[in-house]
Formats: sequence, C-alpha cells, structure tokens
Amino acid sequence: MRFIEKGDEPEDFATWKRRNPNANWSDFSASKDVSTIEIYNNLRESLLLDQELRCCYCEMFLNKNEEAHVEHLKDKDRYPKEKFLHSNLLASCKSTTTCGHKKDKGYFEQMITPLLENCQDRLMYTDDGRIIARDENDEDARRTIEEVLNLNHKRLVDRRKTIIRGLEQYGEEMFDQCFDNCDSWFGGFPSLIEYYISQN
Ligand SMILES: [Zn+2]
Repeated sequence: MRFIEKGDEPEDFATWKRRNPNANWSDFSASKDVSTIEIYNNLRESLLLDQELRCCYCEMFLNKNEEAHVEHLKDKDRYPKEKFLHSNLLASCKSTTTCGHKKDKGYFEQMITPLLENCQDRLMYTDDGRIIARDENDEDARRTIEEVLNLNHKRLVDRRKTIIRGLEQYGEEMFDQCFDNCDSWFGGFPSLIEYYISQN
C-alpha cells in the first residue's frame, strides 16, 4: 500500500455539491444526467491520477478510468457526513473479493490506509508473494491486510509471485528499470518491487 498525496478537489465536483446540498451518493454516482456523469468521471480520473493510475489498496495498474470505482474510505452508512468529502474518496479496483468492495463497511479507526504517510513501513512481503505486517505483533496491520482488504487473495499472491520471479530473472542491473517501468512490465505493484530491491 502506497501513500497517496491527494491533489485538489476538482472544481466541477465542488460546484455540484454546492448545488445539491441534500443529495445522496447515488444521486451523483448513478445519475442519468449527462453533465453529472461527466463530473463523476472527472472525479474518478482525478483520484486515479493522484494515485498514478493504480488501485489505492492492491497497487494494480488500472488501464482505464472504467476499471476503477470511487471508493469511500469511511463508508457512507456509518460516516454519512463524509460521503462527499474529497479527503475520504479514493479510486479502487473493481474486484469484488479484495480492496474497496471487499472492505465495504470494514473501515476501523486504526486501519492502515494509503492516506497514512508511513503505511508501507508497516508492511512487507514474503518470497512467495504474501503481504505481512513488518512487526508480527501489529494486529492492526494484520487485520487490515487479511480481514478488511483481503490482500492475500490467491489472485494477488500469484500475481506478486510472478513479479518476484521476474525480478529474479532480470537481475540486479535491471532493478531500477523494473521499478520505473513497473506499470507496463508488471501491471503496477511498485511497493513490492521497491521492497524486493531493498532486500536483494
Ligand atoms: Zn485493488
């Protein structure tokens, strides 16, 4: 999980909120109105750009705007006041078994989130592609990875394992290029590559 430095809120989104003070999220996200759809798409794109076009949780590179959904870090049901707050919005992949959809209402106060500057320092990777807590007693990290986001789903572990094997084959002299081209060569996952390089 990588720290995300959020950019400014898109102006058309701020305007829409001012004009629709009592709106529900679905009035915005599922609107049939052409200009509202455009504002939603702009918002999703700007969130993705803040994240260098990768899922905020699993770090998979997302080729198209449509591969992401606007994710509420703090869910709309329990935190209704934050449903339109730009600082609560991220872009997640659309997997139903991991990341934003899996989290759903799983946010908890001590959760490790990509909005914490030191988030990646709390996590590390095993040789077989699993994410684990750097400190084995870090229960919040374990809960975040395993229960809330399910970041050790077989699909993600296999993906990471393949990247690690790829790095082994490229060898040390190619490490910098592997990191710089992680999106096109490996489909994202820069923190994994960074961690592997630091260990080898
Ligand atoms: Zn994801």
